[in-house]
Amino acid sequence: MAYTHRMNALDPKQRIAALCKHFYTLGWVSGTGGGIAIRDGARAFMAPSGIQKEQLEAEDMFTVDLDGAVLERPNDDRLTLSACSPLFLNAFRLRDAGAVMHSHSQNALLATLKYGSVFRCTHLEMMKGIAGTGYHDVLEVPIIENTAHECDLADSLAEAMVAFPKAHAVLVRRHGVYVWGKDWIQAKTHAECYDYLFGAAVRMKELGVDPERPPL
Ligand code: ZN
Repeated sequence: MAYTHRMNALDPKQRIAALCKHFYTLGWVSGTGGGIAIRDGARAFMAPSGIQKEQLEAEDMFTVDLDGAVLERPNDDRLTLSACSPLFLNAFRLRDAGAVMHSHSQNALLATLKYGSVFRCTHLEMMKGIAGTGYHDVLEVPIIENTAHECDLADSLAEAMVAFPKAHAVLVRRHGVYVWGKDWIQAKTHAECYDYLFGAAVRMKELGVDPERPPL
């Protein structure tokens, strides 16, 4: 099957299940953390809360409207809507995202320990994978403070999304990152590039190289 056909071969629920399996292998959604949501017009599809992400199938997904009202739920009564749901909806409403990923990646977490309120780097090739960013730019990602309950992040996440219109991600201190894109393909690309940059910046700091400064 041709590449473009394969990219469109799965419906959004199947795609979420496939991405959860893939991201599990990267350590981004281990321990039932993290999640993915994909929007289709005025509807969004989301993985349930607190379950083994790599075991998910399409039938386990919730369908909600953009206000968060459940339109369709899985047959299994024990499944509950993701605690990330208000945060995913922020990206759909405020940034017109087509897909959002929430990762508990260690690269994201460690980057939040080495920066204040904004992650910054420059002159790194993988920055070009972020829409609207070039090699010579300074890439910025806002960092918000973590809360005891995930749903309480919604307001500060929304503020950060509005304050940093060029960013396609928001880091959460000692927690992880929310990343979005116009569709699942761009969201996945962004998630991979940001994660690479977070990891590289932390390693550069360990080596005594400032990721915020251009090379001499
Ligand atoms: Zn989380």
